[in-house]
Amino acid sequence: MKRLGLLWVLPVFLGAVSPALAAYRTKNVFICVMDGVRYSETFGDPEHENIPHMWNDLRPHSFIFMNFKNTGVTVTRQGHSTIATGTWQTCPNGGPRMSMPSVFDYYRDELGAPQSKTWAIFGKGLYAWLPYSSFPVYRDTFAPSFEAGIGEKVLEDDNKVLARLLEVMEKDRPSLVLVNFGYTDHSGHLGVYEDYLKAIRNVDRIFYEIWQRIQSDPYYKDTTTLILLNDHGRHDDSHGGFKGHGDACEGCRHIMLQILGPDTKKNTVIERPAFQIDIAPTVGELLGFQTPLAKGEVLSDCLASWENVNKKEARTNAMVRAVAAQQLAERDLAKVVGDRLRDTVKPEDLGQGLASELVHAALGIGGAGFRAPDTGSAASYAGYRGPYADIESAFRVIELAAIKRGDPALAKESVYAVA
Ligand SMILES: [Zn+2]
Ligand SMILES: [Zn+2]
Repeated sequence: MKRLGLLWVLPVFLGAVSPALAAYRTKNVFICVMDGVRYSETFGDPEHENIPHMWNDLRPHSFIFMNFKNTGVTVTRQGHSTIATGTWQTCPNGGPRMSMPSVFDYYRDELGAPQSKTWAIFGKGLYAWLPYSSFPVYRDTFAPSFEAGIGEKVLEDDNKVLARLLEVMEKDRPSLVLVNFGYTDHSGHLGVYEDYLKAIRNVDRIFYEIWQRIQSDPYYKDTTTLILLNDHGRHDDSHGGFKGHGDACEGCRHIMLQILGPDTKKNTVIERPAFQIDIAPTVGELLGFQTPLAKGEVLSDCLASWENVNKKEARTNAMVRAVAAQQLAERDLAKVVGDRLRDTVKPEDLGQGLASELVHAALGIGGAGFRAPDTGSAASYAGYRGPYADIESAFRVIELAAIKRGDPALAKESVYAVA
């Protein structure tokens, strides 16, 4: 089978990204993450002592989801990856990249936004997130501009992240931005409750400053939607308290979500449940691009007028291939790959270490007619990667097998053939 090739042509990019028929006034979306803060210290506190700006100054302009949840692994890399992809990600900190395409991929692919118009600005370091996925069709083709490790160890670090954001807003005029403010989480881990509250109040002030900056800049005013949320919470007091996080307790799962901009309802608080996977489809809806592999739903009830732009249709070459690859993966990709390899490659010929581990994982998952000798490492790898282990391992197995056969070019060909 022949490689399809990169045949699609990106539209010429002129200034702001604008689809032919803009359904919304929103031309820019800023997703701002206050890292690792519990609902009980934000909207769940009846006095709202730690979020005076979000509650008093921003609430009149905003839509607040009181029952917003991270139902994933509740750590930083998972939270940001879930927000960015609209799929439940399982990646642990320092672990593999997110496994599905992100809003940056879909946006740049469909609407032709250049890299400079998309930014990810991270207080935390590379262990916390990487701006591109391992999904075969996209990988790093449409990665955003990215800066990580600005700081997360002292209160001032969150101010540095704000300063960097403001610089980027001046210089690049970005239209899709993901920002991580990391000290709130770090201060929680340090274990001094009053310092953790101070960190929250500082980011509350920062969020308000971002909003004010948007309002005072004619380029961004009335064209920018701000999404304020957490990547995960922290343990509630019956599961170890605010110092830690990472499990399925209510404190780790229940987080905040506040959305404000030209297309959202004002001064509204809603109780119905909403989820982190709903963010990516909602960003697509507002900016006018499709999110075909996102599992969440557009948060349509926060929109003053829901235009149903994001139908999750695959409208580019890459999207069509991505959907096909994912459908195959959900069906029997690993088995298909395993069956193809059975006649040409023996597991024991594939070498040791990571390569064999990956191969064994894919073969083990696929039930491909023979068992890898080291099923222990295969099982642990599969468990580590979670539900998307099969597609990624399967693609890796093709690449590795082809490379092993001395033909790296064939590796890519094979991936595209299957995709
Ligand atoms: Zn975090
Ligand atoms: Zn917990």
